[in-house]
Amino acid sequence: MNIILLGPPGAGKGTQAERLVAERGMVQLSTGDMLRAAVAAGTPTGLKAKTVMEAGELVSDEIVSGIIGEKLDMLSADTGVIFDGYPRTAAQADALDTLLAARRRTLDHVIELVVDEDALVERITGRFTCAKCGAGYHVRFKPTQVAGVCDACGATEFKRRPDDNEATVRTRMAEYRAKTAPILPIYEARGLVSKIDGMADMDVVAGEISAILAR
Ligand code: ADP
Ligand code: ADP
Ligand code: ZN
Repeated sequence: MNIILLGPPGAGKGTQAERLVAERGMVQLSTGDMLRAAVAAGTPTGLKAKTVMEAGELVSDEIVSGIIGEKLDMLSADTGVIFDGYPRTAAQADALDTLLAARRRTLDHVIELVVDEDALVERITGRFTCAKCGAGYHVRFKPTQVAGVCDACGATEFKRRPDDNEATVRTRMAEYRAKTAPILPIYEARGLVSKIDGMADMDVVAGEISAILAR
C-alpha cells in the first residue's frame, strides 16, 4: 500500500501519518522531516535548503525527489509507504511515478485533507513536537496528557519549527495553492483521489482514512 497525504501546511498530514505508522506499521516519508534533518546535520543539501525553508518557499524538485528515491531504496518491497508533503509540484508528481515504477510499487490512494485556511494559522502557531521521539502536539487541540511530558516517550523537551510563524505560513499556503493544489487533477484523472474534511476532529479524520484504505 502506497498513499499520498495531500493538504496545505497544518492540514493534519503529519498527525494522521503518525497514527498510520503506529497502527499499521507503514513508513512515513516526510520530505519536510528529511530536509530538517539535513539542515540539522549541516549536509550540503541542508545548507541549500535552510534559507528556502525559512522563507516558506519550495526546495528544488531535484533535491526532494533525490532524497525520496534514496529512502525508498532503504525499504523492503512489502513496506507500505505514506508520502507526507511530497509531491508538491507537477515535476515531483512525475518523478514519483518514475521512482515507484522503477521499484514496482503502485500508488493506491491520494487523500486530500480539505481545510479552512483561516484555521491553519492557529494550528501552525500552536504546533510543537517532542524533541526526543518527534511525537506531534498542539497547545490547544492536542496537549500532552501530563503538562511538559511527552505521552509517547516521557521526554520533557519539546521543539517548535522556526518556519511555524504567521508570515511564513502565509507564504507556504500561497505555495500550496499555486504549485501543489494543481497536481490534484493528475491523480483525479486516475481515480485515486479521496477528499476528507480536515476540519473534523482528529479521530474522525483517522476513521475516514481507515475507511478509504479498506476499500
Ligand atoms: P508542513 O508541515 O507545513 O506541510 P513540511 O514539513 O512538509 O511543512 O515542509 C517544510 C518546508 O520544507 C516547506 O515549506 C519547504 O520549504 C520544504 N519542503 C518540504 N517538502 C518539500 C517538497 N516536497 N518540495 C519542496 N520543498 C519541500
Ligand atoms: P501538517 O503535517 O499537515 O503540516 P500537522 O499534522 O502537523 O499538519 O498538524 C498541525 C497542527 O494541528 C498540529 O499541532 C496538530 O496537533 C494539529 N492538528 C492536526 N489535526 C488536527 C485536527 N483535525 N483538529 C485540530 N488540530 C489538529
Ligand atoms: Zn516523545
